[in-house]
Amino acid sequence: MPQVEKPTRRRTARIKEIVVLAVVLGDQLNLDSPALCSADVVWMAEAAEESTHVPSHKARIALFLSAMRHFRDELRAQGKEVIYREQAAGSLASLLRADVARLRPSRVVMVQPGDYRVLNSLRAAVPSLEVLEDPHFYNPLPAFRSWAEARKQLRLEYFYRDLRRRHGVLMDGAQPEGGAWNFDAENREAFPKTGPGELPAPVRFKPDETTRAVLAFVETQYKNHPGRLKHFDWPVTRAQALEALHDFVRHRLPHFGRHQDAMWTGEPWLYHSRLSAALNLKLLNPREAVGAAEEAYRAGRAPLAAAEGFIRQILGWREYVRGIYWTFMPEYAERNALNAHAPLPGFYWTGETEMRCLSETIGQTLEFGYAHHIQRLMVTGLYALLTGVDPRQIHEWYLSVYVDAVEWVELPNVIGMSQFADGGLMASKPYAATGKYINRMSNYCGDCRYSPEKDCPFTAAYWDFLERNEQLLRRIPRMELQLRNLTKRRGSV
Ligand SMILES: Cc1cc2nc3c(=O)[nH]c(=O)nc-3n(C[C@H](O)[C@H](O)[C@H](O)COP(=O)(O)OP(=O)(O)OC[C@H]3O[C@@H](n4cnc5c(N)ncnc54)[C@H](O)[C@@H]3O)c2cc1C
Ligand code: SF4
Repeated sequence: MPQVEKPTRRRTARIKEIVVLAVVLGDQLNLDSPALCSADVVWMAEAAEESTHVPSHKARIALFLSAMRHFRDELRAQGKEVIYREQAAGSLASLLRADVARLRPSRVVMVQPGDYRVLNSLRAAVPSLEVLEDPHFYNPLPAFRSWAEARKQLRLEYFYRDLRRRHGVLMDGAQPEGGAWNFDAENREAFPKTGPGELPAPVRFKPDETTRAVLAFVETQYKNHPGRLKHFDWPVTRAQALEALHDFVRHRLPHFGRHQDAMWTGEPWLYHSRLSAALNLKLLNPREAVGAAEEAYRAGRAPLAAAEGFIRQILGWREYVRGIYWTFMPEYAERNALNAHAPLPGFYWTGETEMRCLSETIGQTLEFGYAHHIQRLMVTGLYALLTGVDPRQIHEWYLSVYVDAVEWVELPNVIGMSQFADGGLMASKPYAATGKYINRMSNYCGDCRYSPEKDCPFTAAYWDFLERNEQLLRRIPRMELQLRNLTKRRGSV
C-alpha cells in the first residue's frame, strides 16, 4: 500500500501559511539549491511512475529512493518542513497537482529538472510553477544556446576550451597547463596480456537502516524489474559522496587517464571514479570533483594527463551533453538519421549471448547498474549501431539499466554519441569499429566462441553498416579512410 505521511497538527498549522512551496526531485538533492533558500515547505514524492515509465534497474530505483529519504531526514534535522510522499502511486504531476490544490501556496518553485517529460508534465499540472536555472552546472542553459547559435558546427573541444578559460581550470595564465588542451594520445592504453594486476578497490557504503528498508521495498514492489541488489553499495548521502570523491582522487585518479578506454573481464571499476550517480543526484558538485583533480595534479599526486582526462569528462562532456539536450529537445529524442528500425535484441535484458564482450558488459550492468564509458560506447552501443537497432529502443534500455541514468545526460550520449542518430550534431563521425577494437582494448575475445580475426559478429555487422549507410557516410570527411577500405574490400571479395 502506498504510504502517505499524515500531516501532524503542528505541520498542518504551518502548512496553512505556505508562501513558497519548493519542489525537490530525486536528482536535486543539494542543500544549496536555490529552490530551498526561500522555501517555507519542501515537497518531495516517490512517484511510482518515475520507476516504471521505463523498466528501471532495481539498483537505480533503490539509489534514488534511498538518497531522497536521507535528504528528507537531513532537511528535517535542519528544521525544514518537508511534505514527503513515500511509496506513492501515480505520477509526480498528479501528486503535485493534488497537493497544490489542497495547500494553496502563493508560489511553487523548483530548479530545472533533468528530464523534459517531467518539466512538461509539472508545468501542465501547476501552470504558475517557477522554474529556476540550476547553478549546480558550470554553464547556464542560455549561455549554451548563444554559444551554439553562433556556430555552424558544434564540437566538444571548442566548448571545453572556452569553459577552461572562463573558469580558470588547469590554466597557466592564458595558456592551457602543460601547453596542450588534450592528452588523449596518452590515454588509450590497453592492459598488458597479464591483466591490470592488483586494483585499488573503491570505497563501499554498507546499506544503513534507511537503505535496507528501501532495498526490501524495491525487491518486493519491483520484483520483475531488471537487475540485482545484492551488491548495492552506492553513496546515498552527501558525506558518502565526498568520501567516494576523495577515495577516487587518492587511489585511482593517478591511473585514470592511461587506462580510461581499457576493459577487463570481472573488473567493472578499474580506475574509474564511480561518481556519475552522486553527481547526477547533486550529492556532489562538479566544482568539487574538478577542483580535487586539479589540486591532486598541482600537488604532484596525479599526472597532468590523468587530471585533464577526468576534468574533460566533467567540465567538458557533462556540460556539453546537457546543453545539447535542452537546446534540441523534444525533437532530439525522435532523431533517426540512419533510418535504423531493428528491434533491441532480447539478450540486452539477460546478458545471455555467446558474444563474450556483450555477455560480460550486460552481465555486469545487471549485477551493479554500472558499466564504464567504453563498455557503453564500444560494446553495447557499438553492437546496436552496427546492427541498426531503433535508437528509441536502445535509448530506453540505457535509461533503464544504469544507476546514473537521467535523461539529460543519457539521451545525447545514446542518440548523439553512440548511435549517430542525430546525423552528426554531437559527434563528428559514428563510433563504428570491428571486433578488432574490442580485442585490442580488452581480454574478452580470448574467452569468446567467435574469433575477432575470422567470424566475429561485430566485424560482419561493421561491413554491413558501411554498405547500408554508404551514401550518408560519404558526406562525412572523417569516414574517408573507412570507406576507402570498404571499396578495397569489394574489390577483393
Ligand atoms: C551510450 C552511453 C550512455 C551513457 N549514459 C549515461 C548516463 O545515463 N548518465 C551518466 O552520467 N553518464 C552516461 N554516460 C557517460 C559515461 O559513460 C558515464 O558518465 C560514466 O561511465 C560513469 O562512470 P564513472 O562515474 O565511473 O565515470 P568516469 O569514467 O570516472 O568519468 C568521470 C565523470 O565524468 C562524467 N562523464 C564521463 N563521460 C561522460 C559523458 N560522455 N557524458 C557526460 N558525462 C560524462 C561523469 O559524470 C563521470 O562520473 C553514457 C555514455 C554512453 C556512451
Ligand atoms: S570475438 Fe567479437 S563477439 Fe567475441 S568478444 Fe571479441 S569482439 Fe566480442
